[in-house]
Amino acid sequence: MKPVLTFTERGIYCPAGDFFIDPWRPVDRALITHGHADHARPGHARYLATKAALPVMRHRLGAITAEGVDYGTRHRIGDAEVSFHPAGHLPGSAQIRVSVGGEVWVVSGDYKTAPDGLCEAFEPVPCHAFITECTFGLPVFTWADQASVAKEINAWWAANAAQGTYSLLAAYSLGKAQRLLRMIDPEIAPILTHGAVEATNAVLRAQGYALPDTTHVTAGLDVKSCPGALVIAPPSALGSAWARRFKPASSAFASGWMRLRGVRRRRAADRGFVVSDHADWPGLQAAIRETGAERVFATHGYTEIFARWLHAEGYDAAVVPTQFGGEEEDDMPVVEPADAEQAATEQAATAHKAAPETSDPATSAAPDATVPYPTGQNREDATASAPADPDPDDATASGQTDLDTGPNTGPDRR
Ligand SMILES: [Zn+2]
Ligand SMILES: [Zn+2]
Repeated sequence: MKPVLTFTERGIYCPAGDFFIDPWRPVDRALITHGHADHARPGHARYLATKAALPVMRHRLGAITAEGVDYGTRHRIGDAEVSFHPAGHLPGSAQIRVSVGGEVWVVSGDYKTAPDGLCEAFEPVPCHAFITECTFGLPVFTWADQASVAKEINAWWAANAAQGTYSLLAAYSLGKAQRLLRMIDPEIAPILTHGAVEATNAVLRAQGYALPDTTHVTAGLDVKSCPGALVIAPPSALGSAWARRFKPASSAFASGWMRLRGVRRRRAADRGFVVSDHADWPGLQAAIRETGAERVFATHGYTEIFARWLHAEGYDAAVVPTQFGGEEEDDMPVVEPADAEQAATEQAATAHKAAPETSDPATSAAPDATVPYPTGQNREDATASAPADPDPDDATASGQTDLDTGPNTGPDRR
């Protein structure tokens, strides 16, 4: 019997249904987990994604032949049954469940286990085999709860606003920026946005995602009329001529990599807030456990180390090379051993989340732990790259796929 999913040079492939999931080369039929550029690529003949993910995909990719599905509804493609389940990564993001002859595999895409109040909350999907990202698959990566990070950001902004100083907050324009908008207190001062952020805001607002009022920074806007404003822009805009109109200003960067002090320092922002749209170390472990899977494949991130941890835990684990990453937060900044030492020391000091027992020194939270590069990623300063400016949304749905919508056949097999 063929495996439910195979790993090909074009991407993750299902022989029984003759489709790919988040392929990186053009294919006939692509099932897409979410709209980030490394997962939703141009050039496929037919796309299938959640209804909530499609508007942003069309906005980014232009005219595509695409069909949208509801979360949780089962569809038959060839001899495979597929369904999409919330991944908690950004609005519309999904894990994709594929069942063939009673054998169930799940592709996680990018995911975050903690609810963020904006996107559909992560849902564990029971399966035999789980293909998981592990962007932050090291014990030093633990996230504080969202409310306490929101408090930090609001305190920083309010203190700046009280002095008439602008607060420049760098965040990726799809997902992170909107999540931050939901975290901050819009009563503090006006909120200004870079065009890349505002364009995504408009798409999500049209879908019904509630966001506070924002003002797009256009050439004609007199920024002097909004002292103390919070300015949300993609990381690439920080330090640019665009940003220099805001004076005086305090700058901050919101990313999971801000967990590492050395990265914070080299980021050349005044503040770093630890906010990630990926699962932290405990989140990855919990997610994997909850699937009940015996087989686990690690894709982008600290794959080798993560796979060793999985082995030690008794999983049948393997590393799968993919071309995910290169997108937003998936990318690895420069991480030096000292960064990890610092993070480990901080972690030991606060030690409320215990690191798992493991015989592998690389995955321990000991003060001498080092944070190596995740597989295949060592691009310098890669988190500073902003996603390409989205195309205007001039797409229309053709909906001409031959997808059969099968009946929802009761509870998951396992
Ligand atoms: Zn993503
Ligand atoms: Zn990704």
